[in-house]
Amino acid sequence: MARILAVTNQKGGVGKTTTAVNLSACLAECGQRVLLIDLDPQGNATTGCGVVKRGAMPTVYQVLIGRSTAAQTRLSSDFGFDVLPANRELAGAEIDLIDLGQREYRLRDALGSVREDYDFILMDCPPALNMLTVNGLVAADTVMIPMQCEYYALEGLTDLVATLKKIRANLNPRLEIEGLLRTMFDPRSTLTQQVSCELEGHFGEKVYRTIIPRNVRLAEAPSYGKPVIAFDRSSKGAQAYLLLAQEILDRRADRKRAGATTAGLG
Ligand code: ADP
Ligand code: MG
Repeated sequence: MARILAVTNQKGGVGKTTTAVNLSACLAECGQRVLLIDLDPQGNATTGCGVVKRGAMPTVYQVLIGRSTAAQTRLSSDFGFDVLPANRELAGAEIDLIDLGQREYRLRDALGSVREDYDFILMDCPPALNMLTVNGLVAADTVMIPMQCEYYALEGLTDLVATLKKIRANLNPRLEIEGLLRTMFDPRSTLTQQVSCELEGHFGEKVYRTIIPRNVRLAEAPSYGKPVIAFDRSSKGAQAYLLLAQEILDRRADRKRAGATTAGLG
């Protein structure tokens, strides 16, 4: 049964989409069955993995309003994982959902039927705490938070953690933080180093050991409609996302072992 991860941060430009696309490709490369859901009306995750957005094709929007199912709407990318695409139409979902019942639960309910088909479902959330993000957080088991190590990052993180607490209290009691990911990292900056240390001090094990460096190949790959491992595999960016996928798989194996031990004790 898939582990459902929401890649989220209400700040724009922190590497959510880059992480969602590249991590999907790297997990697929590690033999995992992956579905990437684009929850951003900008549709950058959709184009970033080479899926062409056409007007008539159903998208996650039709899934949310109940006009299509996840199974009917998903497409295969050329990179070993499936995509639930989005386009501008999704911007209207915010308003359309107002009239529909259970509006926070629509994505969760829609994924029930495809969850068995995957090991991981990754959601690329929009840079806002709107109804689309709420649907993502309600459907998710865990959140992955990409962030740049800069001055305002920690402040933004406080807001995000408060939102996660509210979602947990009211809508999704099992929601956890999967991990915090340092993106666009520039080790030469003293401020970056300081913020990075503070983050580790505050969130400890929740901060991934893998750090994503600033790497121009990561920024270039989407214009070719490819994840970076299919564009320039030897680049630092590609290597970092491969390591991240491995770290996530190692952590999952550790959790399973710990669970088995606990069950054995009980
Ligand atoms: P978000 O989805 O959070 O808005 P994006 O993933 O779209 O952020 O990244 C914002 C911009 O930064 C994009 O142009 C992307 O190509 C670029 N970018 C993301 N990660 C990196 C990185 N590690 N190195 C260089 N450029 C990056
Ligand atoms: Mg994005």
